Amino acid sequence: MSTTNSRDAGHGLACWCCGATFDESTLVRLGAHPEVGLCFDCARWTHRRAVEQADAGRAGIGVHGRQALRVVRAQVIRLGIHDWPLIGRLLRQLDQRLP
Ligand SMILES: [Zn+2]
Repeated sequence: MSTTNSRDAGHGLACWCCGATFDESTLVRLGAHPEVGLCFDCARWTHRRAVEQADAGRAGIGVHGRQALRVVRAQVIRLGIHDWPLIGRLLRQLDQRLP
């Protein structure tokens, strides 16, 4: 079952963040606004943004570890390493398991 919205691309439902189309089973719906659907990658990105904002002004080993991961992730993306044929695929798979 899908909700009707103007973002329905006809061949799937559009993610409200990136705009790509997905099956309903691969979209995360918001509780109070079920018409809004995010793909898994955008849901993960949103979660990371929320954690980053929550970490602001806090200290601790977890905060520092997540900040270090953010720095490394930003460098990998800036250098385009995530698009390299073999190591890029491995890094993307690893990234899906990191906070
Ligand atoms: Zn998306």
